[in-house]
Amino acid sequence: MPYDLHTHSTASDGTTAPADVVRAAAAAGLSGLALTDHDTGAGLAEAVRAAADLGVDLVPGVEISTAVRGRSVHLLGYGAVTDDPALARTLASTVDSRLARLRLIVERLQAVVPGLSTDDVLARVPVGVTPGRPHVADALVAVGAVASRDEAFVELLAEGSPYYVGYRAPGLLQTVRAVVAAGGAAVVAHPASRSAADVLSDDVVAELAAAGLVGLEVDHRDHDEPTRARLRALAADMGLLCTGSSDFHGAGKQNRMGENTTPDDVVEQLLAGAARGRH
Ligand code: AMP
Ligand code: ZN
Ligand code: FE
Ligand code: FE
Repeated sequence: MPYDLHTHSTASDGTTAPADVVRAAAAAGLSGLALTDHDTGAGLAEAVRAAADLGVDLVPGVEISTAVRGRSVHLLGYGAVTDDPALARTLASTVDSRLARLRLIVERLQAVVPGLSTDDVLARVPVGVTPGRPHVADALVAVGAVASRDEAFVELLAEGSPYYVGYRAPGLLQTVRAVVAAGGAAVVAHPASRSAADVLSDDVVAELAAAGLVGLEVDHRDHDEPTRARLRALAADMGLLCTGSSDFHGAGKQNRMGENTTPDDVVEQLLAGAARGRH
């Protein structure tokens, strides 16, 4: 039975509590899943407990925000990497920058949505939760400025919108090295989606592979079939594994748990050598 190797909970911008993400994986008939919240392992302890109760295999993980030449690229780290002190410091600094940036986005939006308050947005991001644009989107829905998260992203929050503000994130190559040093397995998340596609040339991927990258997330809803075929060929060339996942965000996105998956033998190869750790 396959695994869903990329899911989000209320520890970042998902709308489902960690234990309920695990329940959704069990209900979808999966043998396992990775919980990969943005820049935090805060949901892992709850997920590990739920997985033990439900007889589902929980792979600890994190989706790390990184940058390449100013563009955002997401890196999936599997294993007990959020327990690593150096990586934990990097993630905490990204979360700080994300919080400062959320305030700036709200300030800009207040010019066109006067009813939007900083307090309302911050109330959606308790301490320990990684802030993201979806939290602003939910506040925009609450004040009636837009009908859904999707509409908020299209109308107001997209990169390139006048209300968009970026945040500080570590370099991709150094982060691959940090995940490897932490005993984890590194996989580039949705390598062909928007901002990543522009900066992930074959040469960059070769450099990452030489630094210890183990896989590319090929089967993801952001990738059409020709893109998946190209990524599969690239992975084969570079000796990388191909993974698949839903990038589940609960009710926050259309993505259904288990809509793309990774075969269990690939999960085994991926995690060979990666420390599972305890949460
Ligand atoms: P941020 O982390 O603040 O840069 O926001 C990006 C996050 O927003 C990603 O995790 C996406 O999954 C999520 N996202 C992107 N587009 C949408 C959308 N149309 N609706 C809901 N969430 C989205
Ligand atoms: Zn997200
Ligand atoms: Fe992502
Ligand atoms: Fe994600």
